[in-house]
Amino acid sequence: MLPRSLDPLPHESLPGYVLRLAYRLERTPSRIARLTGLAPLTRVGGEGYVRASAMLYLDPATAVQFARATRLSLAEVAALCMNRYAARYPPLDFTGTDPRRWAGNVARSTPWVSTNSTRYCPQCLAPGGQAIQHGLKGGWQQPWRLPVVVACVIHEQMLLHLCPQCGQPAHSARAAALLPRMGDLGLHPAQCRSTVRPPGRWAAQPPACGAWLSTSALRQHKISSDPLKQVLGQQRRLLDALRPDGGIPQAAARDLTGDLLTLITLINMSWPVVGRELVPAALRADVDDHVRRAHQAVEQRRRGPSPNGILRPLRQPPADPSTCAALLLAADNLIGYGPRDLRDAIAPMLGHLNSHEPAALYLLRSRAACSAGLQAALTSQRGGFYLVSRTHARPAASGRHRFAPRHIPQFLPQQLYDGHLENLHGISAKLLRRAASFKLFELAGGGTWLDAADFFQIPITTARSTLAFVRRWTTPNLTIFEDAVEYIAGELDATATLIDYQARRSAMASWSIPVSDWEVLASALTAKSSTGRPTVYDGRKRRIASVMVWAQITQGEHLFAPLVMAEKHDHGRSDLRSAVTAILHRSNPKNADLRAALTDYAHQLCWSIDNSVVPGAVI
Ligand SMILES: [Zn+2]
Ligand SMILES: [Zn+2]
Repeated sequence: MLPRSLDPLPHESLPGYVLRLAYRLERTPSRIARLTGLAPLTRVGGEGYVRASAMLYLDPATAVQFARATRLSLAEVAALCMNRYAARYPPLDFTGTDPRRWAGNVARSTPWVSTNSTRYCPQCLAPGGQAIQHGLKGGWQQPWRLPVVVACVIHEQMLLHLCPQCGQPAHSARAAALLPRMGDLGLHPAQCRSTVRPPGRWAAQPPACGAWLSTSALRQHKISSDPLKQVLGQQRRLLDALRPDGGIPQAAARDLTGDLLTLITLINMSWPVVGRELVPAALRADVDDHVRRAHQAVEQRRRGPSPNGILRPLRQPPADPSTCAALLLAADNLIGYGPRDLRDAIAPMLGHLNSHEPAALYLLRSRAACSAGLQAALTSQRGGFYLVSRTHARPAASGRHRFAPRHIPQFLPQQLYDGHLENLHGISAKLLRRAASFKLFELAGGGTWLDAADFFQIPITTARSTLAFVRRWTTPNLTIFEDAVEYIAGELDATATLIDYQARRSAMASWSIPVSDWEVLASALTAKSSTGRPTVYDGRKRRIASVMVWAQITQGEHLFAPLVMAEKHDHGRSDLRSAVTAILHRSNPKNADLRAALTDYAHQLCWSIDNSVVPGAVI
């Protein structure tokens, strides 16, 4: 146990706490690391090496040892590690994985947590002044290691990342260590710990820079007061999102941070396709410069021996806080767009990436831990429908709708068509009704048309040719089509009791009218028609009637009814299909009677299915 200890400061990082403790106890940080169990005892000969990943996560045994030595509670120790933001910052989330290995991976490879250097606010580091009022008293804060944190909202200024004297990033440590120069004694936590090699002379132990970062004069800022105000507003929202008590629900916080990171990466990768006008004019040249260097680094890696991490420089946000703030403002701007504007805004970026750096686009899509809305916008579309990609990642539900794919009938019901789509010209009602169901399926997060075809049991060839026609038509008519389907979606959302069409489809997958029911129906129909030639109500007629009832109950097209599909499969064609078409469209009193009788019958059957009664004889 240490002779004296210290209370952690709010948001203080583990390296920051170790530095303060070392300074107060007049020990080296490596000694503190050994006494608190951070540095493995087997390494006694060394400097007391602590992995950088310790700032993200401590395994339970180390945490217990650390808590005992420092007389902190386990909760206080846990709060020193950055995985406290896991639920609100996707790159730090490691649910379902081995946390030790995860922390190592994050420290090594995510561009969104900086474990090898940190930004800082000089005023916050100053051991006095305004910082005391906020309980900070010169602590190194965890959020400074998140590249999206670029400003101090207390002192209303941009953060710094370089030491003004030696020009090196603060706390940059070689060999992925928790801190640089762990063996130095007597450096104040606010002093620069970078190694300075005296010019022209070789020194066995080059000294630390030692400059006071707490008195760093702020450079003339590239960010003028108006953009700074925007940046500060954005940072306040971001910090609220990161804090559990910031008043932002966890899911919304995750979406916000995830969307920011994804959009910054996208802007970075495709710069300057879109985003120039979203960035303050004074900062555009800096972004140009950052992106140019990232591309150079990628080219260099391409020529190198390792095939891994070639595109990493393109995923890396700018280290300079002002340049990063420029991308942050642009991304924040895009987040404020409605879904369709967002999609329109990012479509050119996706197109650019697709033709110039397809691997980067793949990387972006596969790693995007963002809101479902952004995920949908990231999915390639043509003519208003998702494209089916080779990898075929299923787009997530947008979360905007109450209804799910199972609430969507295979064929948009006539009444909805009449209400919303009837006035659209230049395309057949049949194609439009099919396409509307596909689009609703997308909106409900079901996936692409290929998933829809599978879900609705429509042959892929039919689905493909339908979509080909519809896309040709939507190319000039996209907005009106999308608006119409949005209205229908809104109507479904407002429906008190949604119908589970999927339950109906599966209940009727191998159903036909039971013979006993059919006999009752047939005798009623025979009794009714006294005139003309008597109609034969035989087994074939029963199958025809079954298809009609199926179509009515599932709101599907009769050509995709299981009985029709089976006949087609066995004989290459279906007489059943044409027979049903004839009865549906030929108007004579007998057909009308049959249709009416089947409609009544279907109503009763609907009731039993919707109330989970196994469909069998109903009469
Ligand atoms: Zn500050
Ligand atoms: Zn320095």
